[in-house]
Amino acid sequence: MTLLILLGLVVAAGVPYILWTRMDARKASRAIAVHEDVQSMGDELVPVSIHPEVDLDACIGSSACIRACPEDDILAITDGRARLINPMSCIGHGACMSACPVGAITLVFGTAKRGIELPKLTSTFETSQAGIYIVGELGGMGLIRNAVEQGRQAAAAIAKSGRRGSAGDLDTIVVGGGPAGISAALALIAHGHRTLIVDQDRFGGTITHYPRAKVVMTGSFELAGYGTVRRKTMSKEQLLELWTDIRERTQLDIKEGVRVESIRAERNAWRVSGASWSDHAPNVVLALGRRGAPNELGVPGEDLPKVAYRLIEPDPFAGKHVMIVGGGNAAADCAIALAQAAICASVAISYRKDKLARLRGSVRTELDRCFKTGAIQPLLSTEVKSITEDHVTLKTPEGMKQIRNDNVIIQIGGQPPSALLKTIGIELVEKRGEA
Ligand SMILES: Cc1cc2nc3c(=O)[nH]c(=O)nc-3n(C[C@H](O)[C@H](O)[C@H](O)COP(=O)(O)OP(=O)(O)OC[C@H]3O[C@@H](n4cnc5c(N)ncnc54)[C@H](O)[C@@H]3O)c2cc1C
Ligand code: SF4
Repeated sequence: MTLLILLGLVVAAGVPYILWTRMDARKASRAIAVHEDVQSMGDELVPVSIHPEVDLDACIGSSACIRACPEDDILAITDGRARLINPMSCIGHGACMSACPVGAITLVFGTAKRGIELPKLTSTFETSQAGIYIVGELGGMGLIRNAVEQGRQAAAAIAKSGRRGSAGDLDTIVVGGGPAGISAALALIAHGHRTLIVDQDRFGGTITHYPRAKVVMTGSFELAGYGTVRRKTMSKEQLLELWTDIRERTQLDIKEGVRVESIRAERNAWRVSGASWSDHAPNVVLALGRRGAPNELGVPGEDLPKVAYRLIEPDPFAGKHVMIVGGGNAAADCAIALAQAAICASVAISYRKDKLARLRGSVRTELDRCFKTGAIQPLLSTEVKSITEDHVTLKTPEGMKQIRNDNVIIQIGGQPPSALLKTIGIELVEKRGEA
């Protein structure tokens, strides 16, 4: 009887232990795979905003940081220590640092190997160019709540400066319609400023590009003239509904689809210009985020509505002949996502070189598989020459070819926002893993 009880106790304690160690081993091997995959992209990768750095000597492997992180597979325990396995997906919540019981985590900008350039700002977010302010992620700090707060503070400083446009002119141009730009514009309007928001894309910022149903940690934040949003978490869709409501219930003046390409001084004001738009104001708020402006091919037909510069969801491409242009991870990821959805009439990838180099390990494997099964048609050593409603013309080694096409997605890299800042003469500082 006693033996039976003992056996029962051993089984009761042993089974959960075996399951727990197996789960742990599975987690560790997944972490190593993610880490190797990211490492295979080389040293080029630098998290765009503030991110954790783990002091491996101080770390005791408690896993508290991993439990605290609201995103998946960013930190993991390998060899008994916490490591940042996927820095590029870190969005700077900072929950890991607060959770660490031994203070082994510091939040830093850039990495020791590769720095990031950040604008030098005053405490009111003014740059080295008087009248130009930078708010939100472009200043280095991620998160919606920070962006909203910085937008509000910069607006208050602008209002206090007393710089106004002449009668009938704008007082402030806000470049970027994400959380920082929206908040700044609302606060400026509340201060009586004639304000215009200009965005290269759609109103809403990076949030509009989140994956479907993404849970967003927002915390409460206050939008001038609209009210306080008191939600700890929201889905992407709920946030977009909030943006729509703000747009409908406030007097925001928004110009979408205009990429600002230059800002230069002009008689006590700043002239802000895009390809086919230009205006001036004594104050400019730059709320560009850190994702930059996508590069364009510069070919006839690129302005057609069927041309896009990123894939958000495969669904709109059901039944379509889609061509992805580019040879990096982003282009390959996009082609794979469409091929895996198996809803397109065809998926092709056009690249000017004869092979796609510098791909992450997992992307290379999946792309080769899709090439073999025909799920993706490789159009290597080809160059897009023009785009029409139903075709793309490619220059190929065998001459010009017309390919049937309904949608083109161009993924050929982009200009970092610091490029625009440099042309304006805004002073930048390089951060290499500094707190
Ligand atoms: C996948 C993902 C998940 C995230 N999850 C969270 C989360 O849960 N909680 C959280 O708080 N934060 C999260 N973030 C971070 C958050 O989205 C950003 O910190 C926030 O959007 C920054 O706001 P912003 O206004 O500074 O910039 P953005 O939202 O990036 O907006 C910048 C805007 O500027 C426009 N723009 C850029 N260049 C130009 C130009 N030259 N001319 C005209 N317009 C231009 C862009 O089109 C864009 O609309 C997440 C980010 C990502 C990518
Ligand atoms: S900073 Fe945030 S997203 Fe990045 S690892 Fe820490 S908790 Fe996760």
